[in-house]
Amino acid sequence: MTSNSRNSIPLLLVLALGSCGQPDSAVTSADEADLVLRNGKVLTIDADFSIHDTVVVNAGRIVATGDSSLAERYRSDNVVDLQGKVLMPGFIDSHTHIRGRPQRYIELSEVTSIAEIQELIGAKIEEIGEGEWITGYGWSEDELGEGRRPLRPDLDAIAPNNPVILTRAGGHSAVVNSLALDLADVTLATPQPDGGVIERGQDGQLNGIIRERQEIVGRLVPDSTYSELIASLEVNLNALLAKGITSITDASKRPSEYAMWEELYGTAELPLPRSALQFQWFDPVAINALKEQVGDGDDFLKIGPIKVFADGGFTGPAAYTLEPYVNQGEYRGYLNMPEAELVAHLNEIHDAGWQMGIHAIGDAAIVLVVNTLADALERNPRDDHRHFLNHFSMRPPELTMELMAEHDIHITQQPNFTYTLEGRYAENLDGWRLQHNNPLRSPMDHGITVAISSDILPIGPMVGIYAAVTRRGMSGTVYGPDEAISMEEALRAYTATGAFLNFEEEVKGSLETGKFADMIVLSEDILSIDPDRIMEVTVEQTYVNGKLVYSAE
Ligand SMILES: [Zn+2]
Repeated sequence: MTSNSRNSIPLLLVLALGSCGQPDSAVTSADEADLVLRNGKVLTIDADFSIHDTVVVNAGRIVATGDSSLAERYRSDNVVDLQGKVLMPGFIDSHTHIRGRPQRYIELSEVTSIAEIQELIGAKIEEIGEGEWITGYGWSEDELGEGRRPLRPDLDAIAPNNPVILTRAGGHSAVVNSLALDLADVTLATPQPDGGVIERGQDGQLNGIIRERQEIVGRLVPDSTYSELIASLEVNLNALLAKGITSITDASKRPSEYAMWEELYGTAELPLPRSALQFQWFDPVAINALKEQVGDGDDFLKIGPIKVFADGGFTGPAAYTLEPYVNQGEYRGYLNMPEAELVAHLNEIHDAGWQMGIHAIGDAAIVLVVNTLADALERNPRDDHRHFLNHFSMRPPELTMELMAEHDIHITQQPNFTYTLEGRYAENLDGWRLQHNNPLRSPMDHGITVAISSDILPIGPMVGIYAAVTRRGMSGTVYGPDEAISMEEALRAYTATGAFLNFEEEVKGSLETGKFADMIVLSEDILSIDPDRIMEVTVEQTYVNGKLVYSAE
């Protein structure tokens, strides 16, 4: 197309626009745009949840959203017909864990049988050879067809000549094979380690499960090399784009890890999502120095809030609860550090001016953290601190939620836990506490800002959205339907609210003029789909900065 013929059409358009009172910024020609997506169901997730037809992108940013007339007003060599499909902001996973993995590592978070674990081990032996250590993470007996944990004989059957250690989802136990036990000198005569258990089966033999102290074997695994870790980090971050995740907050990093991320973001060949890294306060000097050095970060990599662990989780279980667990005497879990230390820790970080994202799962941990933050904010008020609780897996007393609303203490929560951790909750909680696990409706109704995130259990957003809307566990059981939220609320919590928790609501989280063109196309209309089928919705295309970075085709 020549520039002449390009210019001839818009002249008519300008006249037409003039006659209906539209802005006349297009004086003599259509504006040029890098990308126009038209004929879609565009969920902008703006304040009014407006739904449009067309989005126009230029230089990585959204320049307009609106009806089909935009497709005439803006000229582009790259016009995409969405054929009525949903286009929405990319998901913002405000609590996840992404890392580079060594070549010996097997990802187990999506396996559904022990037989599949054996197949993956067999394939890994083919890849790296006999004698090499094999590691893995993420299995859970709740998701295995056999309905039990993988045990030493299962691993020995496929890996007699490779030491194997596979850590359970949550990280509180691992299964190892006979060769790994031999190399670590762990036998029936080995005394039980402090704070951990070397399990025996009913036959009296070691069954390969080690709880809490799996490093008695894991310490033997050779260190990974920098080059294999950075290469795998690139692959693992890139893989998020296929899930529609265009931004993450990685919830547990050390300042020393920043260099690898910075190098990766400077050199990556694969497209990557935007990342914010959350550090623990082990080394305030290093964290403050890093902040000094990188400032607020660029649009793709920045330092996030400080991570604090108040208590544990429901594996163990170790969440700190107000009332005892079911069938465990007076046991109520525990804090991750003595209470006075935790209170001092939270005050120190608050006073240092940092935002905090605080792991609090049990209701007693939530109450303590909220009371501490409220006191800190009264003693030392800070505008727009945006402290938030992560997980919020048990519903705390009303007074606690009122305090949260009053002091703008927010939440990022994983409703997908209601689905995947159903077995854990049912084992340890009962009655009202079980029904109100991972509450969403009640904190939102109290006026608390709630984001949804995955904590990689699993990593894809559709499980969390499904559980947020249906309140169903893996078995199909519905828990506390009064805690369900609408699809519109769930989508906002997984996009715009995540941006807010990172102080980035001006640049992402919704499809509005001036924001990054981070967008996804869904396979089905998630607003009208039968809720039972939400997990079947897939991401067909992902755009970051207006560039197509993933296509299912
Ligand atoms: Zn986590």
